[in-house]
Amino acid sequence: TTDDDAAGLLSLLRAVPDHPAPGITFWDITPLLGDAGALARATEALAVAAQALPGGRVDLVAGVEARGFVLGAPLALALGAGFVPLRKAGKLPWRTVRQDYSLEYGKASIEAHEDAVPAGARVLVIDDVLATGGTAAAACALVNRLGGELAGVVFLLELLSLQGRAALAPALAGAPVTSVLQTP
Ligand code: AMP
Repeated sequence: TTDDDAAGLLSLLRAVPDHPAPGITFWDITPLLGDAGALARATEALAVAAQALPGGRVDLVAGVEARGFVLGAPLALALGAGFVPLRKAGKLPWRTVRQDYSLEYGKASIEAHEDAVPAGARVLVIDDVLATGGTAAAACALVNRLGGELAGVVFLLELLSLQGRAALAPALAGAPVTSVLQTP
């Protein structure tokens, strides 16, 4: 993305103060999703960022529920990859593998079908926002447990002040991370 493209996409993200709790600024991507041109440019920028990662082919894109689904499916199409939903606990109908993780307050879990990733498939993880990094770290751990090879992690927006990359690093085992947009 050029600086102009990035500024245009950033201008379509809505910063909502004190949501869902006091002191948290929530980055709402729905204005971007609702703009046909911006959605196309964001998808293209994610694909370009993913293709620039070292390491080569991507067989599957794994999106974290729910906004990782919205961005992950068009990204998978753009990359010629399949899509794997990493869902909140209790939603998937078949046998699952579950990964528990800690949030700032409390705990959460994500699940995937146990047969979602063929052995050795290269899997790119996507979510909309990198905040503290806990969710993405859990997604990477789940991909490994499913038998996949982590191709990398891509975000639409990285909240730099939260230093999520540092928290994510141990889960990466050397796999690359990238983001299309950043806020200080
Ligand atoms: P984290 O595990 O802290 O990196 O949080 C990442 C997950 O929570 C992603 O799925 C985001 O969609 C969501 N999230 C966390 N913080 C924010 C925020 N400030 N604005 C928008 N989404 C957020």
